[in-house]
Amino acid sequence: MAKPVVKVAVTGAAGQIGYSLLFRIASGEVFGKDTPVQLHLLELPPAIKAAEGTAMELEDCGFPTLAGINISDSAVTAFNGINWALFVGSKPRGPGMERNDLIRDNGPIFVEQGKALARASQDVRIVTVGNPCNTNALIAQHNCRDIPATRFTAMTMLDENRAKAQLATKAGCNVGDVNVAIWGNHSSTMYPDFENGTISGKKITDVIKERQWLEGDFMKTVQQRGAAIIAARGKSSAASAASACIDHVKRLMERTPDGKYFSCAIPSDGNSYGVPAGLIFSFPVRSLGDGKYEIVKGLPISDYGKKKIEETTKELLAEREVVKDLLIK
Ligand code: NDP
Repeated sequence: MAKPVVKVAVTGAAGQIGYSLLFRIASGEVFGKDTPVQLHLLELPPAIKAAEGTAMELEDCGFPTLAGINISDSAVTAFNGINWALFVGSKPRGPGMERNDLIRDNGPIFVEQGKALARASQDVRIVTVGNPCNTNALIAQHNCRDIPATRFTAMTMLDENRAKAQLATKAGCNVGDVNVAIWGNHSSTMYPDFENGTISGKKITDVIKERQWLEGDFMKTVQQRGAAIIAARGKSSAASAASACIDHVKRLMERTPDGKYFSCAIPSDGNSYGVPAGLIFSFPVRSLGDGKYEIVKGLPISDYGKKKIEETTKELLAEREVVKDLLIK
């Protein structure tokens, strides 16, 4: 018997990330070859035509798993009955724009989309990719009190994948052998935790003994990878961002194998590593496979790690302050 249709909303569907993401979702790669997927594309009115063009291409791929495509410029319409909301669309940073301006500019989008989630299915899960993704997710979550806060997540998987790739190249191993998590904000303050991470079960610091490289070039490369790709290609890293979004959804759905974890920004429970309750903060997380997840507790954090976690916490608290009027208590 055919499985029930999974309804997936993608905002900013006509953007660069949307163009890489939609085809992979429609192909059955994410929810399985036996699960029909209905796509709900949300776009701004000027981009609706482009979204229609993408929809035509999706149809032309002939994916047996693609059950239908709706296109709308209204979040209320687009979120009707959805099981997943992938918040990709957000206003890009203009020339000379400060991060706080970007945060303020994006706020209203996520207030509106948070409210419209009231139309979603009871089991809806939200992944925020559009930047500043942690704070955008916080705004949406505060404006949608009907859905448990734990369903709101923001993506740090691309940072994790970038960290893994760098570590695997340095250690001469396969990316799959590396287990490493990102702490905090999806910004230059994020902390790829090489002190707790492992390569083939051994501590990263026992495999890669150059502490200077880990604290220096490694961190810098991961933090500045997006800019390096723009400098090289002339366009942003949309395909790898889309791929990370797919990894994020899959990791949440599948039980995490023993001894592993993944990076996911989630509302802090207030009892983990000194991070204030409610901040959407990236932790090492394990999925229990039934839609639930847990923060990996008890990892030893050195003074160096504490400083890094404090720094990214401070930045997220400052971002929360910038949008405090948009957060419903
Ligand atoms: P992209 O599809 O390239 O990026 C979308 C968002 O994802 C941006 O905020 C971007 O942040 C973020 N992002 C996260 N990780 C990455 C990464 N590694 N590389 C690139 N981006 C990343 O943007 P486009 O401008 O091509 O498309 C955005 C679309 O969203 C437009 O079509 C626009 O019309 C739409 N939009 C829709 C809204 C809605 O549906 N209500 C609201 C606002 C916009 P960063 O800018 O920091 O790279």
